[in-house]
Amino acid sequence: MHNNQRIVVTGGCGFLGSHLCEKLLAAGNEIICVDNCFTGTKANIFHLMDDRRFEFLRHDITFPLYLEADQIYNLACPASPIHYQHDPVQTTKTSIHGAINMLGLAKRINAKILQASTSEVYGDPRQHPQTEAYWGRVNPIGPRACYDEGKRCAETLFFDYHRQHGIRIKVARIFNTYGPRMHPNDGRVVSNFIVQALQDKPITIYGDGSQTRSFCYVDDLIEGLVRLMDSDDRFVGPVNLGNPSEFTILQLAEKIIEITGSRSKLKFEPLPKDDPRQRRPDISLAGTALQWQPCTPLEEGLQKTVAYFEKLLLNK
Ligand code: NAD
Ligand code: UDP
Repeated sequence: MHNNQRIVVTGGCGFLGSHLCEKLLAAGNEIICVDNCFTGTKANIFHLMDDRRFEFLRHDITFPLYLEADQIYNLACPASPIHYQHDPVQTTKTSIHGAINMLGLAKRINAKILQASTSEVYGDPRQHPQTEAYWGRVNPIGPRACYDEGKRCAETLFFDYHRQHGIRIKVARIFNTYGPRMHPNDGRVVSNFIVQALQDKPITIYGDGSQTRSFCYVDDLIEGLVRLMDSDDRFVGPVNLGNPSEFTILQLAEKIIEITGSRSKLKFEPLPKDDPRQRRPDISLAGTALQWQPCTPLEEGLQKTVAYFEKLLLNK
């Protein structure tokens, strides 16, 4: 990994952003963590605050930002359906105005910039597994659109800044990622199930639980992001980053009950609108272009995540 770079991480107080800041700092870089603390919290970066190479800046990226840096990782955006649907207009603004502001910054200071895009750009896919060539199937006016279309438009902006202004860009399409520092109440499936299981509360399965997701452990994902940023300038993506091991939501619930030894029972609730039926990344491109593949099996990643939430609930 490169070192001695000054690196901006937007969304640095969030789940993925805080792990990224930690890794980049440990490799000898200077970090400017930019976050408005909407879904992230300073508690996630508290342990980095004493390092003189780490700086926290409270800032909303829908407003312009002026600073000097070598690289920008643009992660700022609420990622869980509950959070991004809470204020959908702000979610779209964060994706689009945020991308324009960060790309403008990259252009002015000639920095390399990486966009945290998402598997949601594929919507409820008809191609399975999803390759980067698939254009997706997104409802443009549904409740998930603020996030999905926001992220799609951000990709458009990245590629147009690249073609029109020669900006060095990298676009990662991140699939469901889990691990320590997920927000306990953000409604995502892994955190929900673990918190429910640890409290012996009912496990809320939306629909019949036959929909699938493929879950990537956070350390693997962060390694992929850094490899992408450090890759040859000619490789811009988009590239899928995720774990191709696919599970139904029911299987996930059963695994979490087993690991926690919980007495929780399953509780079936209505499936949210536009909830994708299936999702699994084809990661061949990441394999050839970045020599990257995830190495943490679900069982092992869940154990680490359960240990984190156990401690969190105990401290509460
Ligand atoms: P998160 O909610 O934990 O982190 C997002 C961070 O962005 C938070 O700290 C939040 O306060 C900050 N933020 C939100 N709006 C902002 C704004 N306008 N200005 C400044 N900061 C703002 O989510 P996460 O899981 O860490 O996701 C990080 C990024 O990765 C997001 O862009 C998300 O779309 C993308 N992603 C995540 C996943 C996943 O499974 N975790 C999957 C696909 C894509
Ligand atoms: N889900 C569920 N119970 C929950 C939370 C989520 O059954 O308590 C389901 C949800 O309907 C979806 C899957 O789990 O099918 C993943 O949901 P999540 O919000 O984690 O991510 P996304 O839908 O964005 O992939």
